[in-house]
Amino acid sequence: MKNSKPQASKIQTLLLRWFRANARDLPWRRNRTPYAVWVSEIMLQQTQVATVIDYFNRFMKRFPTVEKLARAKQDSVLKLWEGLGYYSRGRNLHKAAKIIVADYGGKLPDTLEELQKIPGIGRYSAGAIASIAFNRPAPILDGNVIRVLCRIFRLKGNPKETATKNKLWQLADMLVHTKHPGDFNEAMMELGALVCTPSNPSCSSCPLNKVCAAFKHNEQDSLPVRQKKTRLPHYTIVVGIVYKDNKILIDKRRQNALLGGLWEFPGGKKRKDESFKTAVAREVKEETGITIEVGKRLCIVKHTYSHFKITLHAYVCEYKNGAAKPLACDAVKWITPKNLKKYPFPGANVKIIRQLMNAV
Ligand code: SF4
Repeated sequence: MKNSKPQASKIQTLLLRWFRANARDLPWRRNRTPYAVWVSEIMLQQTQVATVIDYFNRFMKRFPTVEKLARAKQDSVLKLWEGLGYYSRGRNLHKAAKIIVADYGGKLPDTLEELQKIPGIGRYSAGAIASIAFNRPAPILDGNVIRVLCRIFRLKGNPKETATKNKLWQLADMLVHTKHPGDFNEAMMELGALVCTPSNPSCSSCPLNKVCAAFKHNEQDSLPVRQKKTRLPHYTIVVGIVYKDNKILIDKRRQNALLGGLWEFPGGKKRKDESFKTAVAREVKEETGITIEVGKRLCIVKHTYSHFKITLHAYVCEYKNGAAKPLACDAVKWITPKNLKKYPFPGANVKIIRQLMNAV
């Protein structure tokens, strides 16, 4: 990293010029309030821009201010998050809105340090919000920026390892523009999304091709070094769609569990030594305390989450006896099939609901 300062200023100039001519017109760029920047940055974590646009527009329409978000019910927030994944982001956004209203007078704090005290805002999001919303010279490091930096500086370490991560933070810090930090950070992300893509980067049209060490050595396709992909574990899950007087039983997942706060049909992992029907009856009993009669299988649904895959076997069941209680969940409810659409469900359950509606 010899001569890194003059190189930094060259990179800044080239990149800012390119960004000003090529930045995409995205909804959160039209009105850069700290609230809009915050919501968009949380939604963009681990999620593609194209997916986020509609979610962002719906969210801002329903909750145009941090006060409105703070007053909302968690179910309404998660319903708008349904399908976006990583639901702890939605839960934290809601929790954070309450804190911002109660402790910060409804205004997002503007320093890296204070921002990182807010639930769901880590080092990356704090840097993005501080630079884009408050023009503070704070670095950011997301997947796009990591890729661009590894290539420009020909970094051969694994970005998941601490030593390389630290080096990347140093580079991001050294590069960030002091006068236009927000534009510079967005430009880095934009370059990674549009030009310096994971495969087949468009080096010939890249504004940084004259300063890029990977391009010079024709190593752009092998950097950053990739992690070996591990096979995702697979689970067989059974669920009961339990009817009682034309209503269906749903339960709310525990707040601190995976997919916490979302509603689902009661069920769980099938044991190796039991039949599907026995597993449904046992799981429903353990989760809600009721006894059921397990009927026909409605459908089999496959779904992939970030860290595992499931095959879900859904059975139509009749309530027999007992009072439904939240034994291994936060709440239980009997609702009409029509009202299923009002509650936030995980992706696999949304697929079952679709089948259920088609079967009616
Ligand atoms: S020259 Fe190629 S590898 Fe280097 S930053 Fe540009 S697109 Fe990425």
